Amino acid sequence: MRALTYHGSKDVRVDTVPDPTLAAPDDLILRVTATAICGSDLHLYRGKIPDLHTGDVLGHEFMGVVEEVGSGVTDLKPGDRVVVPFVIACGECFHCKLAEHAACETTNTGKGAAVNQKGIRSPAALFGYSHLYGGVSGGQAEYVRVPKANVGPLRVPDALPDEQVLFLSDILPTGYQAAINAGVKPGSTVAIFGAGPVGLMAAACCRLLGAETIFMVDHLAYRLAFAAQTYGVTPVDFSQIEDPAQYIVTQTNGRGVDASIEAVGFEAEGSALETALTTLKVEGSSGVAIRQCIAATRRCGTVSIPGVYSGFLHGFLLGDAFDKGLTFKMGQTHVQGLMPELLDYIGEGALDPGVIITHRLPLEEAVRGYELFDRKEEDCRKVILIP
Ligand code: NAD
Ligand code: ZN
Ligand code: ZN
Repeated sequence: MRALTYHGSKDVRVDTVPDPTLAAPDDLILRVTATAICGSDLHLYRGKIPDLHTGDVLGHEFMGVVEEVGSGVTDLKPGDRVVVPFVIACGECFHCKLAEHAACETTNTGKGAAVNQKGIRSPAALFGYSHLYGGVSGGQAEYVRVPKANVGPLRVPDALPDEQVLFLSDILPTGYQAAINAGVKPGSTVAIFGAGPVGLMAAACCRLLGAETIFMVDHLAYRLAFAAQTYGVTPVDFSQIEDPAQYIVTQTNGRGVDASIEAVGFEAEGSALETALTTLKVEGSSGVAIRQCIAATRRCGTVSIPGVYSGFLHGFLLGDAFDKGLTFKMGQTHVQGLMPELLDYIGEGALDPGVIITHRLPLEEAVRGYELFDRKEEDCRKVILIP
């Protein structure tokens, strides 16, 4: 089959690789009908995440039609159309029983399991996300093996086209969990940093939960304009406004927003001011967006962090966070538990995640898809690939 494979930093290729086969009774083989490129794939693409091997198949946002099932698959059969969560969870361990699927203790048997020998169990395995997360082959491919098929894949109604339900695999529940973690309720004021797919889904979900005012910070004018038009956010362009947090505070009675959502991650870019502040940067993550969240949030407010971090963070102003009495919530999304209600919202027309798609490419053109999304060229918001 054809699949998007990793060969090194900024070197991905569409190759012919062996077809996947069933490896456990509760596996299924999926024929992929649509798959997306995620901001998390960009961390891999840019060589920022360790333990990728040459030839690894990437991709963790995908859906399709069940081709074959193992003898232990109870609910699904060939021909069923499903969306697959990017997190692989067993459904039976301590965390899965608490609906904390991203913390599943049993599915990550790769390198990630070995590096955590200090008694800290590794988090769940993820599709297409390096051997730290289990080394499971991804879904930017014609076919993919789906482990734990009794727990993850969600059947979707034929009436809903792929583009409307594909993002149940990751970015829609990620935006939803970010909004829930932010404690958004009717009347809330929120600042979302990052107008990428995750930030946009967070904006949609904040609206759904009744947020009144949403500030959205980015430096890509085309993304901010879309968010303003679609979700009614107040755009804050950090290429024009040097200190977005300061600006947001002045717009909120000098207090700051009830909650900030950091939808950027450890590769955040800084304004001139921030770049100056980070000249002492040592190895670790850029803390630009987190510092801005702390500064933009009112006392006793919440900072919700769906953006991915790795290693330690430079310039985390814990003193400011303590002084303000902030609450922090973060982490990978517990996708499985959030998918059913989000599917209902899509069915009712309360959410329409497919509107953010700008590029639909054949899988054969996946390399161009990565280049466009990485460089944010051609006003690229979200790329989907059709095998
Ligand atoms: P993206 O790269 O398209 O979006 C990031 C956006 O942040 C871009 O528009 C960029 O211009 C903007 N940005 C950069 N620096 C900024 C700054 N200092 N302030 C404000 N905006 C800034 O990616 P995406 O798909 O939207 O993903 C965003 C983050 O969410 C990534 O870190 C990704 O890994 C993460 N993510 C996490 C989960 C999870 O389970 N928690 C799931 C999916 C994605
Ligand atoms: Zn993703
Ligand atoms: Zn589990």
